[in-house]
Amino acid sequence: MSESHYLAGLALAGRRVVVVGGGTVAQRRLPRLVSSGAVVEVISPAATPSVEALAASGAVVWHERSYVDGDLDGAWYVLCCTSDPSVNEAVSAEAERRRVFCVRADAGEAGTAVTPATGDHDGLLVGVLAGGAFRRSATVRDGLLATLRAGAVPVDLDRPHGVALVGGGPGDPDLITVRGRRLLGLADVVVADHLAPAALLEELSPSVTVIDAAKLPYGRAASQDAINALLISHARDGRFVVRLKGGDPYVFGRGFEELLACAAADVPVTVVPGVTSAFGVPAMAGVPVTHRGVAHEVVVVSGHLAPGNPASLVDWTALATLRGTIVLLMAVERIGAIADALLAGGRPQDTPVAIVQEGTTARQRVLKSTLDKAATDITANEVRPPAIIVIGPVAGLQD
Ligand code: SAH
Repeated sequence: MSESHYLAGLALAGRRVVVVGGGTVAQRRLPRLVSSGAVVEVISPAATPSVEALAASGAVVWHERSYVDGDLDGAWYVLCCTSDPSVNEAVSAEAERRRVFCVRADAGEAGTAVTPATGDHDGLLVGVLAGGAFRRSATVRDGLLATLRAGAVPVDLDRPHGVALVGGGPGDPDLITVRGRRLLGLADVVVADHLAPAALLEELSPSVTVIDAAKLPYGRAASQDAINALLISHARDGRFVVRLKGGDPYVFGRGFEELLACAAADVPVTVVPGVTSAFGVPAMAGVPVTHRGVAHEVVVVSGHLAPGNPASLVDWTALATLRGTIVLLMAVERIGAIADALLAGGRPQDTPVAIVQEGTTARQRVLKSTLDKAATDITANEVRPPAIIVIGPVAGLQD
């Protein structure tokens, strides 16, 4: 039973907190103390590299010596985290004398305070005490957080409003961010891209209006205006609108245009980044876009216009002189002209190429080639969009 404790939240900002010991136990406690705004002083002859790093950054003050009586002068709270029982005993004795609450990491019941298993969710701080049974409190904490994250308990009593531009990730529904999924669960209206992970839409409650942006009855040029108008009108009617996009909203996703349109209409709008297909798709197909000693640069390029197209903003000649990784999006139909431009600019013929169609989904296909043969291999294998084309030595690495 934990009835011998009284649960409270301490306002430690600007107050002196002493942590005796600099090992892994102290290391785990420090970040939360620091973010509470406490003036944290660590007393320990030795420290782990992360405790040292916190001291170097100025987040905590590290006294590189053993504890001596008097160290708790002026402290509001003490954490005793050494592995030496006699030191811990001396620290708690001084704390008791000074009437400062003291946590005993080595022997919870010997202290005057205990650290709960804690976790954050959407501005809430959840803490669980189980009378020193750490595994039990941690397990319950994990369960509570999972329940909150699943949206089973309404924690947003102020319902969100306006528009959220949410990156849905490259395709696998598990690759959306925690925030993206939470906002999706609160949506009244979801306006989805054709590349937004379809499985995420299947989870939505039947009361949610789902609009497929690809099927809006407008021509290609007019459709972005139509989407913007739709986001704005639903938001103005008081509905919370999630604009669900594939990958990241700002990587060739026109997300910033939608943000500007909402802002111009005085509709509150936020963006939730996503795992872009440019990096996530190669990763899950076994291709790291950088690798030590192999590629020190990675350039993400839209291939929606062929080299030589006067509207293109891409300097293909400059790209051809790079040694690192080029990740092409929207390039399947123009890979012949693109490969020619890179070869003409000096990129070697045998530069490895990896092509991933519908990456991170059950329909994923991976094709390996070289720069001189990529276009014929893509045609011969009937590769279709959406596909990512990775050009560079990383495409030849074997996992
Ligand atoms: N905002 C998106 C990209 C939109 S442009 C993002 O950050 O991922 C659309 C292009 O993305 C497609 O033509 C294709 O090149 C790429 N793409 C998106 N999802 C993909 C996937 N699952 N597999 C392969 N390529 C993908």
